[in-house]
Amino acid sequence: MTQFLDGKLMAQQIKEEIANEVRQLTAKGMRAPHLAAVLVGNDGASVTYVANKEKGCNEVGFTSSVYRYPENISEDELLKSIEFMNNDPEIDGYIVQLPLPKHIDEKKVINAISPEKDVDGFTSINLGRMVLNEDCFLPATPMGVVTMLQRSGLETSGKHCVVVGRSNIVGTPMFNLMSRNEKWANCTTTVCHSRTKDLASFTRQADILIVAIGKPEFITADMVKDGATVIDVGIHRIPDETRKSGYRIIGDVKHSEVDPKCEWVTPVPGGCGPLTIVSLLQNTYKAYKKAHNLQ
Ligand code: NDP
Repeated sequence: MTQFLDGKLMAQQIKEEIANEVRQLTAKGMRAPHLAAVLVGNDGASVTYVANKEKGCNEVGFTSSVYRYPENISEDELLKSIEFMNNDPEIDGYIVQLPLPKHIDEKKVINAISPEKDVDGFTSINLGRMVLNEDCFLPATPMGVVTMLQRSGLETSGKHCVVVGRSNIVGTPMFNLMSRNEKWANCTTTVCHSRTKDLASFTRQADILIVAIGKPEFITADMVKDGATVIDVGIHRIPDETRKSGYRIIGDVKHSEVDPKCEWVTPVPGGCGPLTIVSLLQNTYKAYKKAHNLQ
């Protein structure tokens, strides 16, 4: 029987755990953890993500701030803002919302973020530490998937995990993490991408299939083995006039036909999405505790 990995419920539980601890700290007179975001321009998806981040902060009692800049901000000005945030002791962690406008060197800006405040885990230093299994901030979305596997107690050791997608923010870290010698990983891991020949011949071998491909409902039932665990990272907003909102959210997996074949599957929405924001909150809390010598 198909069972669902309820990311929304797990996210709620983690937020309550953090909120409880923050209440105790602030009751002792300490300031609340502070997560900031840099938002350049008005891209719809970026605005929504930053708004969700603010909502998440409110729910756990964090301070949240957004530094908004116009689309035509110069790279120098943006780098000055990064420097300011690196030096502001009141900010524990921050994210620079991507994508940035074309005239700005994204890599340069990301790598200007202090690794100790890089709660998105996107700097070369944090990614390098991740690969070496050193203490670091893990990128939020793969970290959310790991949290889901840890909390659900699914057996992963010795399983074949196939990751579809090799982006720096999802597929590649996911591949790295699932290969680790850890209780929640220890998989034999394969990574597939747009040049993979006969993708289905790989996905059909997966005991655990993690999909981060960025194409709506791309993975169909014939690409999935019976009894697999399928983790759908994809998020797409598609028009739907039958909904009050005018849209609905779908993933990279065609759930209507894939779900009945799975032992475990993440729903979309309510699977990986809520845990991405929670990972950001967990990383911010970790940065705060380090800054205050609380661990
Ligand atoms: P990218 O577009 O950066 O990467 C997509 C990857 O999929 C690339 O590695 C690409 O290969 C591969 N790919 C594309 N087409 C195919 C194909 N036909 N066969 C095999 N592989 C293919 O996307 P992201 O990693 O940023 O995001 C992936 C998905 O996850 C998106 O739907 C995004 O919206 C969602 N997402 C969700 C988040 C969340 O909070 N849950 C957060 C971040 C992303 P190649 O490298 O060869 O081009």
